[in-house]
Amino acid sequence: MAAGKRLPISSQVRTLRRDQVDPEAWNDWRWQLRNMLTQEADFEQLISLSSGETEALARTSKLFRTGATPYYASLMNSERADCPIRRQTIPSLAEMNFREEELRDPLGEDSHSPVPSIFHKYPDRCLLYIVDRCAIYCRHCNRRRIVGGDTPPKKDEIDEAIAYIASETRIRDVLISGGDPLLLSNRRLDDILGRLRAIDHVEIIRIGTRVPVVLPMRIDEELCTMLAKHHPLFVNTHFNHPVEITPDSRRACEMMVNHGIPVGNQAVLLRGINSSVRCLRTLMRALIRMRVRPYYLFQGDTVLGTDHLRTSVDSAIDLVDGLRGWISGMAMPQLVLDAPGGGGKIPIGRQYLQSMDENEVVLRNYRGLEIHYPQPVEKDPHVSYDEVYFAGTPEDDDREGCG
Ligand SMILES: *Cc1c(COP(=O)(O)O)cnc(C)c1O
Repeated sequence: MAAGKRLPISSQVRTLRRDQVDPEAWNDWRWQLRNMLTQEADFEQLISLSSGETEALARTSKLFRTGATPYYASLMNSERADCPIRRQTIPSLAEMNFREEELRDPLGEDSHSPVPSIFHKYPDRCLLYIVDRCAIYCRHCNRRRIVGGDTPPKKDEIDEAIAYIASETRIRDVLISGGDPLLLSNRRLDDILGRLRAIDHVEIIRIGTRVPVVLPMRIDEELCTMLAKHHPLFVNTHFNHPVEITPDSRRACEMMVNHGIPVGNQAVLLRGINSSVRCLRTLMRALIRMRVRPYYLFQGDTVLGTDHLRTSVDSAIDLVDGLRGWISGMAMPQLVLDAPGGGGKIPIGRQYLQSMDENEVVLRNYRGLEIHYPQPVEKDPHVSYDEVYFAGTPEDDDREGCG
């Protein structure tokens, strides 16, 4: 640029830097959504893109959606392309190397969908898909086939899905997901929650959302008060790296907890992003300090274009072995592998039980020490008073799921 020349101040150029945006706009969640960063010029305002990132933004644009709020982008390291925030947001050329085994629908959801907007895999719970937009389009998204597309769930489809839940009396737990359900207006969400709450057999409602991580200004008193009308209601969010824990995201999580909403975390193990013992220990401890209970740590799903983000299963098991016993049990996530094809979530991990017979069990503890545990002398009795306390037959407890 020639000396003395200034960048033109045009109303066409959006200002996306936190220090240059009016705080009132910055703290308005709708402003954040309207101003999501989606392309090279947006990111260039905040960081120096690597040539790989620039090329990947251009070449993947027709394949997978890119987008993040200015808030989330403000956490990016401007110099380092290996920044955990950048790697979750900005595409990599590696996404273009599909492998045969990688799937559009890695968890077989579409074959477990009795009506649109319902994924029903387990006997007593189902997933209700109510919105196709997010406040970030994660590079590892396992629903990228539908999220951020052009086919939002229609109103009559959601009506039909709620009617399905009402007709399936075995469903006790409805997991509302998307897309991000907290992108709906309070009025719309309140309506859906109220209709689910009116169904007798629906015992608990859960919301899966990344909003506390990427759009924490969405979480305010009005939202929390509305959600708390529908208790027992649980929120599971998705922090993957300690850098995501900021005063803003902490305030959002604590506000929900203060409204009696238990907040859990479902992290995804991402190679080179959070795949170290130090990183995972720090993340889990930071979560529990703000009263967010680690729930699952997912082995990467076999999603199209994400092979470079998956660790091997053996390193996943080693990493979690570096947590168990070394951090509070309260801060321990369960390592699971969500079965390709739709078999549900399968716990994986180190075998602590070495051998077992009727006299003795041999175990190893978290430090690798061998431990001997004597079995009781008497065999376990039949619990004779179950029928006094529980109605029906044991078979009624696990009526078959769908599909
Ligand atoms: C993960 C998931 C659930 C909930 O599983 P939990 O182990 O109870 O948390 C329910 N339905 C579908 C389709 C899921 O993917």
